[in-house]
Amino acid sequence: MNINKDLYNLPKLPYGYKDLEPYMSEEVLTLHHTKHHAAYVNAANALLEKIWDAREKDVELDYKSILKSLSFNVAGHILHETFWKIMAPASALRASAGKPVGELAEKINKDFGSFERFKIEFSETAKSVEGSGWAILAFHKEHGDNGALSIIQVEKHNVNFYPEQKILLCLDVWEHAYYLDYKNDRAKFIENWWNIVNWEEVNKRFQS
Ligand code: MN
Repeated sequence: MNINKDLYNLPKLPYGYKDLEPYMSEEVLTLHHTKHHAAYVNAANALLEKIWDAREKDVELDYKSILKSLSFNVAGHILHETFWKIMAPASALRASAGKPVGELAEKINKDFGSFERFKIEFSETAKSVEGSGWAILAFHKEHGDNGALSIIQVEKHNVNFYPEQKILLCLDVWEHAYYLDYKNDRAKFIENWWNIVNWEEVNKRFQS
């Protein structure tokens, strides 16, 4: 057997650990990236190795349990990788700070009526996640002739997700993302987070 054994890697952040302050502290970002994200990458790789090992030895595994765990950890890895990319230091954003740009701005107006309406829907989605999860802005190309933007409320990293959704923007509302900075005030974290959204990058993801 010639099994492809590429593993997942923890990506470097496109900015320094201090650079998202004052909206996200150095302490939170460091722990979030080097401990939490790293744990998902390591767990996903360990599970893959288990699956490959069983394949090579031609033995059975408890696939129900192992694939559930793999889905959780791979989704956790991919969402965090995206989360780091769609943020930028407020000082680097300048003109594009605070609102969408380009074709994506037009599409948001078309599908949501206005950016303000989108922002309310997205923020409420993030606020109301039960326990740990994410708010996601996705593009569903199968919807209608030109595709549609949609908001998805994901529990954990992988529950309530559905296929054929390209993730454009995501917001982590697990407590590890904000508790040290905002205590239980998730709403304040969400409000502040809009200041570090890299809309140029989100627009690029939409165009591709
Ligand atoms: Mn997280």
